[in-house]
Amino acid sequence: MALNNNHTSGVPEWVGNVDLNNMGLDQQFYYLIRSNFSELEITTTVSIFYIFFLYTILSLPWYFIKVFKPSFLYKYKLQQKEEEKQTDWGCILQLVINHLLILPMLYMGYPVLKWVGVSYDLALPSWWDMLARSMIFLVVEDAWFYWVHRFMHTDFGYNYIHKIHHEYQTPIGYCSSYASCVEFIILGIGSFIGPFLFGCPHIMSWWVWMTVRQIEAIDCHTGFHFPWSLCNFLPFYCGPIHHDHHHKTYNGNYASTFTWWDWMCGTDKGYRLWLEKQKKKQEKKVE
Ligand SMILES: [Zn+2]
Ligand SMILES: [Zn+2]
Repeated sequence: MALNNNHTSGVPEWVGNVDLNNMGLDQQFYYLIRSNFSELEITTTVSIFYIFFLYTILSLPWYFIKVFKPSFLYKYKLQQKEEEKQTDWGCILQLVINHLLILPMLYMGYPVLKWVGVSYDLALPSWWDMLARSMIFLVVEDAWFYWVHRFMHTDFGYNYIHKIHHEYQTPIGYCSSYASCVEFIILGIGSFIGPFLFGCPHIMSWWVWMTVRQIEAIDCHTGFHFPWSLCNFLPFYCGPIHHDHHHKTYNGNYASTFTWWDWMCGTDKGYRLWLEKQKKKQEKKVE
């Protein structure tokens, strides 16, 4: 039987044809991880640490903004009223529990990722490929989110599954994953559907996708509409103003990323009327 050249030279097979003396920063970073962990560990333990780290880094500034209320940012808060129910510690505990739940999901997701052809080799896909793929996954995940979330606003879905998430009537970044375990798992399935349908060439593509998804989820829960908010520049992107209205009214605006499902299904009528009223108010102020 012919031996693989890489085995004979002592270089791990996953290095492939990559020139170790000429790696980009992203490859050096991945090389460090791949040298120390198995494929299963990268998918589960490393991924869970990354997701937890990412969530903390992205949501912690919102905690401080809520506590210290800096006026130069607070003037952009969509709902000026304070939360009546202080659920921060309960929220943090639930967030930890939910994030721990991701671990068994990743163990179950590992064979799925392998089946769709995820590579753990040192040769990485281009950043263009990873980002474009994440956009497609986002469209797929948004459809899942819309219909599941809409079901969660039926009497049964709301009372038994979704109620916890709506304890925050004025959302703030760190509460984006504050939900019952059942809701967290069901909505989490949406993250696997895109890679399952359209393929995920590399574990790094999966991490980029997780990053895009987390940024979007936290962004739509910030409760602030800044002049520099992404939704001012990206057409069809919901952004904080769209989802904040959902938390305020408990009704309509069921999508979290794109506006088209609510528009096609007419579940954004209340929101559109409110936008019109806001616009008229602004015009009156100018006069
Ligand atoms: Zn929400
Ligand atoms: Zn809801």
